[in-house]
Amino acid sequence: MTVLNPLVKPLEELLEKPDNIKKIGIDVDGVVANLNDKLLELANEMYFFQNSDYTKKLKKELKASDIITFDYTECTPLNNEDMREIFKVLEAEKALLELKPLQDAQKVINHLHKFFDIYFITSRAKYYTNAEEQTFEWFDKNKIIYNKNNFFFDNKKAELSKKLGISKFIEDRAETALSLAENDIDVLLLDYQWNNHEDQKIVKEVNKHPKIKRIYNTPIAYWPNLEKELII
Ligand SMILES: [Mg+2]
Repeated sequence: MTVLNPLVKPLEELLEKPDNIKKIGIDVDGVVANLNDKLLELANEMYFFQNSDYTKKLKKELKASDIITFDYTECTPLNNEDMREIFKVLEAEKALLELKPLQDAQKVINHLHKFFDIYFITSRAKYYTNAEEQTFEWFDKNKIIYNKNNFFFDNKKAELSKKLGISKFIEDRAETALSLAENDIDVLLLDYQWNNHEDQKIVKEVNKHPKIKRIYNTPIAYWPNLEKELII
């Protein structure tokens, strides 16, 4: 006979919260799932290494340090059409399922469910027709707790967050962080080169905005730091 651990609550109970609990929004790519490593891998496979299906566009192999803007077309020789080809592969091969979760994301998010009403909001549907299918499958595979009613595939994050009553948002894109902050939502911005490179004008605005706080990937990782920021 299986003896159930009485300390482990069923999911339904875990997701039931009083109405006054704080609502937080969490972005997916760059925050929960590591999309950038996959983008780099595909960009190199398709446009740097010998590949009969695509024209070589890159003179050198792209590295994480080359990605100094959120949009690859602004910081690499790739154009919109090349990027669309990459997104097509991610869609057709369901390659989003292969993304690695960020370190400790699963552990911390599942713990945060006890304290907050968590909403996931992602722009994925803008890029992939099978965004929902791939995303839910990925969350299930990686055992990250979510509630489908609190999951939105929407790129108007500030507008939606205000409507939902979200007061804090975890994000990695500078433009989105700024629009959330301008709508009076506190932002925890995961610090990456693409949102913190001095060549970008928006970085100055982000850095001086009182509602945006940077979260770093040291000494351990982003998610243990987020946990401290949110509940300790
Ligand atoms: Mg993101």
